[in-house]
Amino acid sequence: MSEENLENLEENLKQVEERIKRACERVNRKREEIILVAVSKTKPISMVQTVYKTGVREFGENKVQELCEKYAAMEKDIHWHMIGHLQRNKVKQVIDKAYLIHSVDSLRLAEQIEQAAAEIEKRVSILVEVNVAKEDSKYGIMPEETESFIRKISTFRHISIQGLMTIAPFVENQEKNRVYFRNLRELAVDIKSKNIDNVGMNFLSMGMTNDYEVAIEEGANIVRIGTGIFGERKYL
Ligand SMILES: *Cc1c(COP(=O)(O)O)cnc(C)c1O
Repeated sequence: MSEENLENLEENLKQVEERIKRACERVNRKREEIILVAVSKTKPISMVQTVYKTGVREFGENKVQELCEKYAAMEKDIHWHMIGHLQRNKVKQVIDKAYLIHSVDSLRLAEQIEQAAAEIEKRVSILVEVNVAKEDSKYGIMPEETESFIRKISTFRHISIQGLMTIAPFVENQEKNRVYFRNLRELAVDIKSKNIDNVGMNFLSMGMTNDYEVAIEEGANIVRIGTGIFGERKYL
């Protein structure tokens, strides 16, 4: 990789940091409340290394195989976030590597995680993915079904529910997604108020390159940023 690319990565990160900081300031939040997940999907290990060297320790992947490859190649103090749709037959490969699975979106998947986690005697931290904008093209539990879904999986002893995640619509103007972020936040507050055993609403994972500032203003404490750090992705 050329020198120029390496410099770009550092410059991109600086800009993202600056924008996170300013979003926090606008709503009186502290930068330390926010976890920046650098979404490295499709990007080579060399780029992940460069970002790692700037101090980033939270990385996100959306495919099990790629997460496993990068997990094997990289330092072991990284938190790997599984952010993509998870197929049940791949659960086993990823549950001992993922710090947090953001994308639990069905009872059958939760059952599979429970079973696989029990086998390795681990408690796996997960977020429930909510299709807050009710888009046909998106995975996720419908907002009005989220509480009953959470009540069901709250009985699973090897799953620790840590909060909610959403992928908002793709928009040019991030203000358009404010309502969805606000709704997800309200849903989390509502579920938290029910004090369900084994259910924490510690994390609100929302906001990507196009809309993370508004997400932070609306209460996100995990933002998942790919393009803004690594540049455009090329899919072959
Ligand atoms: C790819 C991806 C991201 C990052 O998207 P950017 O727009 O490149 O920041 C965030 N979350 C999920 C679930 C993704 O699949």
